[in-house]
Amino acid sequence: MRIFLTALALTLTLAACAQPGSRAQPEAASGRSDARPPAVAERQMVVAAHPLAAQAGREILRAGGSAIDAAIATQLVLGLVEPQSSGIGGGAFLLRYDGASESVTAFDGRETAPMAAGETLFLNADGTPMGFWEAVVGGRSVGVPGTLAMLEKAHERHGKLPWARLFQPAIELARNGFDVTPRLHALIARDRFLKTYGPARDYFYTDAGEPLPVGHLLKNPDYARTLETIAREGAQAFYRGAIARDIVATVREAKGNPGLLSLRDFARYEAKVRPALCRPYRDTTVCGHPPPTSGGATSLQILGILENFDLPSTQPMGVEPVHLLAEASRLAFADRNRFLADSDFVDVPLERLLSDAYLQRRAGLIERDSSLGTAEPGFQRDLASMPDQPGGRSTSHYAIVDADGNAVSATASVEQAFGSRLMVRGFVLNNQLTDFSFVPERDGRPVANRVQPGKRPRSSMAPTIVKDAAGDFRLAVGSPGGSRIIGYTTLRVLAVLDWGLDAQAAVELPNVVNRNGPTTLEAGTSAEALAGPLRARGHTVEIEAMTSGLHAIERRDGRLYGGADPRREGIALGD
Ligand code: GLU
Repeated sequence: MRIFLTALALTLTLAACAQPGSRAQPEAASGRSDARPPAVAERQMVVAAHPLAAQAGREILRAGGSAIDAAIATQLVLGLVEPQSSGIGGGAFLLRYDGASESVTAFDGRETAPMAAGETLFLNADGTPMGFWEAVVGGRSVGVPGTLAMLEKAHERHGKLPWARLFQPAIELARNGFDVTPRLHALIARDRFLKTYGPARDYFYTDAGEPLPVGHLLKNPDYARTLETIAREGAQAFYRGAIARDIVATVREAKGNPGLLSLRDFARYEAKVRPALCRPYRDTTVCGHPPPTSGGATSLQILGILENFDLPSTQPMGVEPVHLLAEASRLAFADRNRFLADSDFVDVPLERLLSDAYLQRRAGLIERDSSLGTAEPGFQRDLASMPDQPGGRSTSHYAIVDADGNAVSATASVEQAFGSRLMVRGFVLNNQLTDFSFVPERDGRPVANRVQPGKRPRSSMAPTIVKDAAGDFRLAVGSPGGSRIIGYTTLRVLAVLDWGLDAQAAVELPNVVNRNGPTTLEAGTSAEALAGPLRARGHTVEIEAMTSGLHAIERRDGRLYGGADPRREGIALGD
């Protein structure tokens, strides 16, 4: 711990940044005692879930790198120091704002299902769905990782520094070691499955089988070697060489729960570049990532419904706006669960779902003084809604702005903490395929998000970028949190745009989420006081720990303001 804080003290240049070590709690529910001013910068900034990752990103910006360059360095370090959340064994969605053209582009590095996988991947022999953890742990849940292919594609278009240079910070840290943080320690300690397979057991536990303690200097020479190879040979070394062979062998030979991935699946993997999904919101334009994530569409639907109400004149986190947000979320989640999936495989009616007329009609269903209860999708198609399934508790979001005015908002994930628990060459393999619906159909109707060969599972990740009325960059924000991501992120867009909060104050707001069921309020926060008034309006209310990991940058009056979530270990660093 002492080493961790000392290292941190050296990295902090912004007086405004508090010491993350002091507030780092695993699955912490409350950041209320940690209120602090936003980090402020003039030219460039990185906000990421671990100080060493933010530091790597800033190092690259200082060396003249672009926001994409910094994203690559940040992500490679996150895969080392926050292996429970994201890495090259997982997937990611990245939005990029181009300072020159004022356009936003989406880079899709989502995992894909093996070509040998079909609708029954997560069904038992008798046709019933498998238990969630039975499916997660082992090879079955592993999709072809997309993070590296996505980063390389973005670098080909927008990189300024050489690819190999961006690997240096992560390689050095992997060789020299980094201190196990309180959060990493706690997640190892509470994990029931991380000892299932040898490589993860050997890496994350002492010889006596104890979880690595806080402050332990953890080295990862295997990861360093892997990165050296990819730095030299490019992402194809991951998708076509010995690394792919090792992943495929590990997945196919996973004891008790082998998977279907093949070398062919790796060779055919492609990161996709898609138009961002953008919609006006009051006098701004909000852009999200299109399918296969539901994050962008659902968040834009919520905002499009709320635009019909005068939120700017409401009290931040008052019962009135929280009720409206919960109701709009119910309506959007009803559509999400029916229609959202990989649009390269199923026809997702985005135009209709995001049209003004449709969203006005949906807004008309909301009563100010009573809840509409469980919402139904707004129209019919021959589809069944996806049943609720446990979601991820991991994932990581970073936001970056470079000196040329380009911005990145990216969310990356291995799905559950430590993904499938399989580890190869120093990195964790995802369990992202469990984001598919385990049941392919209900009552004879197909579920849009059923497993299909080569398809990408529906996500909730919601990297968001907002442009102001002039088209200039205004806000980059996103979060981990499974399907709660959508609520966490949308609330912060509202908080900055409608209530005028700065990025730090916005991320520190209590979390409030509705996914077309109970309204969930963050335990230990002022949101608990809303329980009574919401119940009086007919909401079923739950009070729970809600560990977001919101990271945001906003531009205001020409300066950059960073927001790092006190519920995790992140930090904002800028110049
Ligand atoms: N697998 C989830 C998704 O793609 C993210 C998991 C999480 O946030 O922890 O939506």
